[in-house]
Amino acid sequence: MHPEIKTTCPYCGVGCGVLIRLLPNGQQISVKGDPDHPANFGRLCSKGIALGETIGLEDRLLAPKINGQTVSWPLATQTIAERFQSILREHGPAAIAFYVSGQLLTEDYYVANKLMKGFVGANNIDTNSRLCMSSAVAGYKRAFGSDTVPCSYEDLERAKLIVLAGSNTAWCHPVVFQRILKAKKDNPDMMIIVIDPRRTPTCDVADLHLALKPGTDATLFNGLLTYLDQQGESNPLFLQHHVEGLENALQQAKLSAADIPSVAAITGLSESILKEFYRLFARTERVVTLFSQGVNQSSSGTDKVNSIINCHLFTGRIGRAGMGPFSITGQPNAMGGREVGGLANQLAAHMEIGNPTHRQMVQQFWQCPDLSDQEGLKAVDLFQAIAAQKIKAVWIMATNPAVSMPNAEAVRAALQQCELVIVSDCTEQTDTMEFAHIRLPALTWGERDGMVTNSERCMSRQRTFLPAPGQAKADWQIITEVACAMGFAQAFPYQNSRDIFIEYAQLSGFQNNGSRDFDISAYSQLSKNEYDRLPPTQWPVTANAPQGTKRMFADGRFFTPSGKARMLPIVPRLPACLPDAEFPFVLNTGRVRDHWHTLTRTGKSPRLSAHKVEPYVEIHPDDARERSIQQGMLVEVFNAQGSVVVRAQVDDNQQRGSLFVPMHWNAQFASCARIDDLVFAVVDPFSGQPEFKHAQVDVCLYQPAWHGFLLSRRRLSVRANYWALTRGDGIWRYEIAGDEAPDDWAKSARTMLCTSEQEVGWSEYFDIAATRYRAARLVNDRLESCIFIEKEFHLPSREYLASLFKKTSISNQERMGLLSGKALSGVDHGPIVCACFGVGKNQILHAIQAKGLTTPEQIGAALKAGTNCGSCVPELRKLLLESGK
Ligand code: SF4
Repeated sequence: MHPEIKTTCPYCGVGCGVLIRLLPNGQQISVKGDPDHPANFGRLCSKGIALGETIGLEDRLLAPKINGQTVSWPLATQTIAERFQSILREHGPAAIAFYVSGQLLTEDYYVANKLMKGFVGANNIDTNSRLCMSSAVAGYKRAFGSDTVPCSYEDLERAKLIVLAGSNTAWCHPVVFQRILKAKKDNPDMMIIVIDPRRTPTCDVADLHLALKPGTDATLFNGLLTYLDQQGESNPLFLQHHVEGLENALQQAKLSAADIPSVAAITGLSESILKEFYRLFARTERVVTLFSQGVNQSSSGTDKVNSIINCHLFTGRIGRAGMGPFSITGQPNAMGGREVGGLANQLAAHMEIGNPTHRQMVQQFWQCPDLSDQEGLKAVDLFQAIAAQKIKAVWIMATNPAVSMPNAEAVRAALQQCELVIVSDCTEQTDTMEFAHIRLPALTWGERDGMVTNSERCMSRQRTFLPAPGQAKADWQIITEVACAMGFAQAFPYQNSRDIFIEYAQLSGFQNNGSRDFDISAYSQLSKNEYDRLPPTQWPVTANAPQGTKRMFADGRFFTPSGKARMLPIVPRLPACLPDAEFPFVLNTGRVRDHWHTLTRTGKSPRLSAHKVEPYVEIHPDDARERSIQQGMLVEVFNAQGSVVVRAQVDDNQQRGSLFVPMHWNAQFASCARIDDLVFAVVDPFSGQPEFKHAQVDVCLYQPAWHGFLLSRRRLSVRANYWALTRGDGIWRYEIAGDEAPDDWAKSARTMLCTSEQEVGWSEYFDIAATRYRAARLVNDRLESCIFIEKEFHLPSREYLASLFKKTSISNQERMGLLSGKALSGVDHGPIVCACFGVGKNQILHAIQAKGLTTPEQIGAALKAGTNCGSCVPELRKLLLESGK
């Protein structure tokens, strides 16, 4: 039997420990939560549980390619080195940029950062973490003098009040949500407040939901600060000894949020709910404010962060158990990127570009030429500099900016005309890869080895349990080989990830003496064996704290010149792009429960793809009614910058005037659903983080001539005006629609199925007058493919038909009912709600009625739904409500 390997989940910033065992065939794995990992203590969410479905090699890039031709590694690295050297000679270091990712391991990040900042000689390396949490970084640095997350997950369990600000924790950080649920169950007095314009599944457990107007968070927290002052709820001793900037901060809070009525008028919240929130915050000593993208992804994200921190500093609620302002990160190693200097405006190991002593220390440590004192270009500026042809070469690692950047169409245009685009990735086909002149195959989760840091500063190992496929290499190794080919071999002597990690640990302790928060100098001499066995540990890890540090600022000392934390005067600003007569809706973007980023990994899993099968927009019922939009219709969401076609999900979870569209879909999975095409490239002035939560758009019906779907055992290249692709269990599912009905449906269907006349063994049904065409192809009594076309969007259940593909032969009765699309016997389980056990909506509704179920626990006992990761429990509650329970 293969040994059990301890590793870390590659998805969100919770950073769960995972136990992996290779199954005897060596190609599949068993996955369990690691009971000893301090982030999850054995729990996993639906994404973690389905990791085994994502390790297949299809779609993998397995060899280096130049202009589409497979080449050897030496040729690829030599070509990059020569092109870089030539651009350096002709245009200088600022003409080269790296755009990296929170998917990289710390060691990869460190080497990329060292090559760019130390040896290329500019600071043009930025990361996609810029898009998710750079406002938290800027806010922490302004307040604490350092990018220090003060809290631990344990604080959530020890808090009496948890404020979840701009965080759909239930879907985006599910295991943290599970920990909160458990804490609330163990301590029913604990209060949970959710601040979010949307009613998300997280609100399911909220004692209060503050559905404020989008973008008004800073006013809400300024109002809280005013209230705390008026109620005499300050911590005078803490303020006197550990805080500066109090008077200015208070003065500005009072100017913008003088009292509850004025806050109510701006935020759109009732005075009574505001009073309740403020009263709860004031009277509860142990408060954690957990904040995420809803706060950060804003043109005033940094101010919003500081408006939260102000309230914690004013009450002295920081540095002690069960309290603090706690930023939770999106990506598995967003924190590692922050630590290692992956952002264009900071140096490695939390040192500052603007600090000459820091520059000198890093230069001395790396033995490199003088470091540039000019901050590099942040993500949005970086791609604009590519468009302006100031940057001639960009190396993109482990990220997909052609989908994920704001105004993604402009990013694609920039890449299209860039002189040299290099992309390192594990996936061959991505929207970004299409622009790559040089493609470099990188290792991915399970194949690589290194460190990640989660949201609570816990450094945790990802370990190898799969062989490197094809010619793929670790990112650090690719970068190292390019560095050596450029003539910097002496500074890049690394043989393995441990060599890099101990150098990084040494740098963190270099002339530190407690002056910098990030210090892991206790790891400076780790042997290979010690590195391999390193348990998850929260930094700093020093001689004085060899077991790590749970909580920061316990001594009230901060990393500002005075040693005091800073309260900031916050002038709330409205979002940059407000709705108007032409574009009257606010567009909000974000994640869904079971998918990750641009679907390159979770899109491989049938289980994870079953929950949300198409790109969609959530719209309030009254807004939908005004535009004659019904549930399930196709609609176009558009603005002056772009448009998408997505399915309408009519739901009063949205406020009137607001729309929500997920961020995941792209040209590999849908015809027209890159929502970041509609997001404007406006950024926070301090952090450079784009405003992904607030674009102005309109929505209207998209009225194709026909609608349909197609299920097939083979992947097809379906081309319809609208299409969206999902992987099912042994099948591919295409939702399709077209602007014109073809003259010959049978011929057209065969073209879509890529099937020749001779091959076809059809059962067919055609009603010209109704624009109804249905066909199924069986080979040896086994269903191979089927296609259903209708004039209207109401079509038979895909789930029932998909279930027929699991059968090795179709019975006569099933054959008779096939083209009706209805189960003549048995149950149509309906859309999947519980991804872990594949339990469908119809099953749950049926069980609720038939067995009189009234709680999620009873549903769990009857069907197992919700009993594993618990991510679907909010949806179970909703189904109970819909059933009148
Ligand atoms: Fe992975 Fe889920 Fe844990 Fe996030 S919460 S790290 S996605 S298992």
